[in-house]
This record gives sequence, C-alpha cells and structure tokens, in this order.
Amino acid sequence: MQFDYLLIGQGISGTFLSYYLQKEGKSFLVIDNNFKDSPSRIAAGIINPVTGRRLVTVWMADELLPFAWQAYQEIGNKLGISAIAQKNIIDFFPNPFMREGYKKKIEEGDQYVRLCSDEKQFEPFFNYEFGCGEVKPAYTVHLESLLPAWRKHLQQNNQLLQEDFDLSLLLVEKESVSYKNIIAERIIFCDGPSSMANPWFSLLPFAPNKGEALVVEIPGLPAENIYKRTLSLVPMQQNDIFWIGSAYHWDFDNTDPTPAFRKEAEDLLKSWLKLPYKVLEHRSGLRPATLERRPFVGLHPLQPAVGILNGMGTKGCSLAPFFASQLTAHLLRKQPITAEADLNRFSKILSR
Ligand SMILES: Cc1cc2nc3c(=O)[nH]c(=O)nc-3n(C[C@H](O)[C@H](O)[C@H](O)COP(=O)(O)OP(=O)(O)OC[C@H]3O[C@@H](n4cnc5c(N)ncnc54)[C@H](O)[C@@H]3O)c2cc1C
Repeated sequence: MQFDYLLIGQGISGTFLSYYLQKEGKSFLVIDNNFKDSPSRIAAGIINPVTGRRLVTVWMADELLPFAWQAYQEIGNKLGISAIAQKNIIDFFPNPFMREGYKKKIEEGDQYVRLCSDEKQFEPFFNYEFGCGEVKPAYTVHLESLLPAWRKHLQQNNQLLQEDFDLSLLLVEKESVSYKNIIAERIIFCDGPSSMANPWFSLLPFAPNKGEALVVEIPGLPAENIYKRTLSLVPMQQNDIFWIGSAYHWDFDNTDPTPAFRKEAEDLLKSWLKLPYKVLEHRSGLRPATLERRPFVGLHPLQPAVGILNGMGTKGCSLAPFFASQLTAHLLRKQPITAEADLNRFSKILSR
C-alpha cells in the first residue's frame, strides 16, 4: 500500500491534520489504537481566551479563536454533526479581590472579560457571595461526537487502521518510510504523550502533565454556560451531563484517577451547587505539555521524511486546528510555521 503520508494518532491533532490533507487531495493512512484514556478522549474541549486568576490573554488568542470556530464549523458541516458551541464562562469570584481584577482588565480595554450583567441570575443553582464575571467568547468542542464521527469517515474511506503502531518496524529512508506493507513519502507523529518515547523526538522538552475529571449528571442545571469556581463545570452534549475538572499534576507515580481529586471535586460540588448531582465517571490522563508551553510542529532536521504535530499541552482544542493547517501548508507548499511552534527551534538538540 502506497500513500503520500502515514499519520500516527487520531486525537484532535491527527484528526485535523488528516482533515486538511484530505481537503488537499493527498493520500494518507492514519494508524490509531483508540486508547480510551488519551487526552483528546478525556478533555472537556474548552477554548478559553484568558488564563489564570490574572486573566492573561492566551498566546495568539486573537488568531486562534476565530480560526478554531471556523475550522470546527467546517468539519462539523462535512460530518453532519455539531462540533463546537459558544459557551461563555461564568467565573464565580472566590473573594472580593477577583472583582477588582476584572474591573482593572475592563478599564484596560480587555475585549474578553466583563462583569455579569445580572449577578444574581445564578442564585437558583449555585451558592456564591462575591458575584461573578464573564469570559466571552469561550467555546466547547464536542470531542465526544467529533472524534468518533471523523474516525468513521476515515474508516469508510479506508484511511484508518485501528492497531498499535510498533516503532521498531518502521524503516526510515531519505525520501520515504516503510512500515509493514505500507510505503509513504512521510510519516507524521500525532500520537500525543507516546512521542516522548519516540527516539526521533524524545530529546524535545516535553513536560507531561496529569489531569483528572468527573463526569456528573445534574438534572435542571442550564447548559448555556461553562461555570467556574476553582474547577470548571462544563456542559457536555448529552442533556444534564456535565464534566468537572481538572487537576494539573506535574509530579505523579501513575496516570490513574486519584481519591484526592474525587474528594476535591465532590467537596466543591457539595458547597457550591444547590442541585443534586450523581457521579457517573472519574477519568484521568496525560496532557502532552511542553516546558515552554508551545507546540512542536514540523519535520525532523536530519530526517525530513519524519515529522511531528504535538505538544498541545492544555490547549489542544484551539492549537490543533491552526497548526494542522499550517503544517499542511508547510508540507505541500513549504509555507513557514509560526516561529514559536516551529520544530526548527530545536534543530541543534535534535541533531545530536
Ligand atoms: C483532564 C484533561 C482535560 C483537558 N481539557 C482540555 C480542554 O478543555 N481544552 C483543551 O484545549 N485541551 C484540554 N486538554 C488537553 C488536550 O486534551 C490535549 O492538548 C489534546 O487532546 C492533545 O491532542 P493530540 O491529538 O495531540 O494527542 P492525543 O489526544 O494523545 O492523541 C494521540 C492519539 O494517538 C493514539 N496513539 C498514541 N500512541 C499510539 C500508538 N503507539 N499506536 C497507535 N495509536 C497511538 C492515541 O490513541 C490517540 O488517539 C485536557 C487534557 C486532560 C488530560
């Protein structure tokens, strides 16, 4: 079997890279093992233009957010599903200082934050004493629909092989790669945390980060917004189902769900929420984060038949469509990749 590209991984990165390659009429095969705890299958899918208690605008927000909205609309239309929805974030202030932080940002002309127009509006559902702000626009990506729908589409086109990719069987030559009975001009790794163990890329400064979330049923809670107080409570597509998370652990012995996170999330729900809830699932996984919080996008400096689209960290939903599109333009037309994301910045390290 001969292809232009062999892609490893159909998380959100591999989904968009294969989407753009398909749009360009290129031939490819995706190999993916459908790992149930991959970050793309655990994430809430939030796209948030600001980050942290200091409400710092995220890197490239003005470019990434409109691009993501457009890209998810497009792929959703192709598949006949809803892939994204605008869900602004209602940020419940933990203390009076947070309101001051919001006011300062508003005075500075920040376009993404404002005070809630009716701060009492959420009183039937939540306990809160210091009011709330709103982050707008924010989005949720419906990963739980998008990933299986794109997978089905690839399977119908004979473009997906569901199995474990075995790196020891990969042969890399100057202008092609071969794997079992497959020959391709290039292989692109979109395999998330697995790339850390890949000899081509193991020297990259990955900094894996463990996250956890509960899936809960909360009948009667409006699903128009994401609600935030320490953790985020995010409406999923199914009625009355919410996701609450997530922890950020840099030190961990394993990737299993922890009783400590479950207690933290349930303690919060008990004190914050006025409605009854039921825990349906507790999930955990690794984010493919990087030391300098920027993705890895491009071709290996010594071996241009091998490439990577990875390092999406906490923001795969906004970064993956944009950088998959850039990588496609780079592969097909040698267009430049944003310098902070370009794999070229690690040429020295990868040439060792
Ligand atoms: C709890 C949690 C919450 C998160 N919430 C958000 C959020 O709200 N918004 C946001 O933007 N980001 C969020 N993230 C981060 C986001 O999930 C990641 O940035 C993103 O999913 C990375 O996508 P990826 O496709 O690069 O990698 P992955 O999701 O890891 O995809 C890699 C794919 O490769 C496959 N694979 C791996 N190894 C092999 C192999 N050897 N053979 C075959 N297949 C293989 C896997 O099955 C998987 O399908 C969250 C992460 C976690 C853990």
